[in-house]
Amino acid sequence: MTKTYKILIGGKWVSSESKETFQSLNPATEKILGRFQSGNENDVNQAVDAAERAFEGWSSLPAPKRGEILFRLASLLKENKESLARTVTNEMGKVLSEARGDVQEAIDITEYMAGEGRRLFGRTTPSELRDKFCMTVRRPIGVCGLITPWNFPTAIPAWKIMPALICGNTIVFKPASDTPLCAIKFVEILEKAGVPKGVINLVTGSGEQAGTPIVRHKSIRCISFTGSRDTGLQITKEAGIKKVGLELGGKNGIIILEDADLNLAIDGVIWGGYGTTGQRCTAASRVIVQQSIKERFEKLLSERVSRLRLGNGLDSKTDVGPMINKKAVEKTHSYTEIGIKEGAKLLCGGHTFGKKGFFYQPTLFTDVTYNMRIAQEEIFGPTVCIISVKNLEEAIEVMNSVTYGLSSSIYTSNMRSAFKAIEGIEAGLTYVNSSTIGSEAHLPFGGVKQTGSTREAGWTALEEFSEIKTVYFDYSGKLQKAQIDTG
Ligand code: NDP
Repeated sequence: MTKTYKILIGGKWVSSESKETFQSLNPATEKILGRFQSGNENDVNQAVDAAERAFEGWSSLPAPKRGEILFRLASLLKENKESLARTVTNEMGKVLSEARGDVQEAIDITEYMAGEGRRLFGRTTPSELRDKFCMTVRRPIGVCGLITPWNFPTAIPAWKIMPALICGNTIVFKPASDTPLCAIKFVEILEKAGVPKGVINLVTGSGEQAGTPIVRHKSIRCISFTGSRDTGLQITKEAGIKKVGLELGGKNGIIILEDADLNLAIDGVIWGGYGTTGQRCTAASRVIVQQSIKERFEKLLSERVSRLRLGNGLDSKTDVGPMINKKAVEKTHSYTEIGIKEGAKLLCGGHTFGKKGFFYQPTLFTDVTYNMRIAQEEIFGPTVCIISVKNLEEAIEVMNSVTYGLSSSIYTSNMRSAFKAIEGIEAGLTYVNSSTIGSEAHLPFGGVKQTGSTREAGWTALEEFSEIKTVYFDYSGKLQKAQIDTG
């Protein structure tokens, strides 16, 4: 029998007031994994009330004590790593080794933020006046609304939840409707670790019914969102005066120069282009290769791509798992048709695969020009485009020709070329001699241009989830006027 899961409000697992549910499928088998509450505005209002009630207690708990809870949480996540990873593969589809990585990323950020409980530094600086002390302190923001996608169903929620918690905020969390089970399993562990009732509230449900009321709610002071650019744009219009953090994907590229270690570069393209079935915001969907090595590169790469094995992510022989859902397969296929119409040459893939599940063949196009739609728009599938260029200058121009600016990479053995690329590429991340993916929890992550400007993870995550208060402490015992008492 299919289990029906509930939502978490003020420490109680309850049914939605909508009395409606939706199902989540295993994308490899199309088996139903469970039924989930279709949360609505009433549920969101109650979740916000609960989060507001919990705020006083949580924000006044000393940050190192909040850190102790996060350390406990990290060790529970380690104990449950395998079962969480299997839930990720079953519900989201990525291969098990990557699912373990997804959970490990959550563990890493939890430990990192737990340690921040003993830092959360402010600054001190001299005053321009005598007998006056100046400093900044970090304050929590209040209730934070966290809206997450399905492609990293434990890592992305953790990247938002952990800094929000350590800074003393309380949370209303809405996960993607494709991965509600991963979210529930994750939040159950937060409860076990001792996160107090009402500090984290979980409302499942659609973007429209559960997401929009979070974005619009007057008592929510901060929204942190990862997902598509269209939704991000809508959120900026609807959020009103709130702190809004957006991470909206990319059209990332790998530059390969003629002096590169070609086999190493090909490993990077396979990992960046087809890992997670291309469904990463940092996926390498464009390969910008120097003309002189194009033919050899194309041959070597297409041999490797055609050998990739599609299948259920739980099968250890599988290289590439399914896509998230039918719509994603259709979107990817529509871009294959667009690419062919635009005059690009299809080297590998280009079709759906198998009778069950949402599979799409690893697809490779060459003779792509920088301005084709397949080279400009985020496909979010296993499609890689090869674009050839004369030299590094042209490669950087092509890299920067898209409206996104998340990740980038260059393969070269020339240090000058590497530094020129670091300088010239408009992106939040540049990798040298490795692929476009591989962020670590203690370093800032985010993009420029239409990717959004938030920097998640690392120390910069604290900026997203705290307010800076500036404190002037005058111990002169007399009225001192800044800018006026200049003597
Ligand atoms: P969305 O942006 O629609 O979904 C992301 C999250 O936002 C989900 O939780 C979704 O809920 C929620 N949401 C949707 N509409 C609203 C709204 N109006 N107000 C508030 N919340 C909302 O992305 P999709 O999952 O539909 O994927 C579509 C495309 O987005 C992909 O093909 C890819 O291009 C891009 N994408 C980028 C990601 C990234 O890492 N930057 C991650 C995922 C997708 P629900 O799931 O219920 O719709």
